[in-house]
Amino acid sequence: MKCSLDQKFSTGALNRYGNIELSPSSGVLNYGQGLFEGLKAYRNTEGDGILLFRPEENALRMQVGAERMCMPSPSVEQFIHAVKQTVLANKRWVPPQGKGSLYIRPLLMGSGAVLGLAPAPEYTFLVFVSPVGTYFKESIHLVVKDEVHRAFPGGTGGVKAISNYAPVFKAQKQAKSEGFTDVIYLDSVQHKYLEEASACNLFVVKGNVISTPITMGTILPGITRKSVIEIARDHEYQVEERLVALEELFDADEVFCTGTAIVVASVDSITYQGQRIQFKTGDNSVSQQLYKVLTSIQMGLAKDDKNWTVEV
Ligand code: PMP
Repeated sequence: MKCSLDQKFSTGALNRYGNIELSPSSGVLNYGQGLFEGLKAYRNTEGDGILLFRPEENALRMQVGAERMCMPSPSVEQFIHAVKQTVLANKRWVPPQGKGSLYIRPLLMGSGAVLGLAPAPEYTFLVFVSPVGTYFKESIHLVVKDEVHRAFPGGTGGVKAISNYAPVFKAQKQAKSEGFTDVIYLDSVQHKYLEEASACNLFVVKGNVISTPITMGTILPGITRKSVIEIARDHEYQVEERLVALEELFDADEVFCTGTAIVVASVDSITYQGQRIQFKTGDNSVSQQLYKVLTSIQMGLAKDDKNWTVEV
């Protein structure tokens, strides 16, 4: 059954960053009917152009999420137009090349008032931005927590629903208090397959083979993940999207995470039931090689044969 609604979004206005007005009985506040996206704008050369990385993918992912959450969604053109207008209006906040990027947060929410449990009668799409520094590559130590799950079959783990995130806070907080960077979640049915971390996808390297958990509704289909799979295949790695068992970590050479915020980052260690598994990191790692290729495309330093970047 099709659930997305047909509301048409009218062209919005640019407003100075500030609070927005929302009904206390809005769908987003009461029932979590909301979705967000995340992408970055980079300066391609000192003071010159500004590049977005695959914004169409974010627009399409929002459309898939909107269908799941019974919301209307902006068209790809409306989404990209709103992103471009917001970035242009904030051009001065895009950091110089190599010093970071402008993080872009599109947000779609049920803003109309609704008291009984039902989709909201009205929706708001907005975009806000913030400059962010280059991700500080401190060492990453993850812990597998099997008592908390991020997603379950038939749920919303495969879309970027706002309601997916608060449920990880408890596990994340506990992991941090134990000295870990973040949590790895296992599948919630058999408790034996790796899914992802709180906000990034996972890759496991063994020799020339790079494996990543398959996205079957419980893992967010990351745009960085999709891009890294293509880059790795171009570089003659064998990439497998499949169920990746927890035990495979004990035999892995390398593990890395991908995401818009983290880009591509090596994982130093993963702890499972008190046992710490250490992985290869550093300049000669597969992860570092993929990081360099990806960021060169994002910043316009390498030829963009795939047409992944979009000029603002
Ligand atoms: N998984 C989750 C749960 C996330 O929130 C994110 C961040 N969007 C990712 C994976 C990585 O996705 P992307 O590469 O599109 O940023």
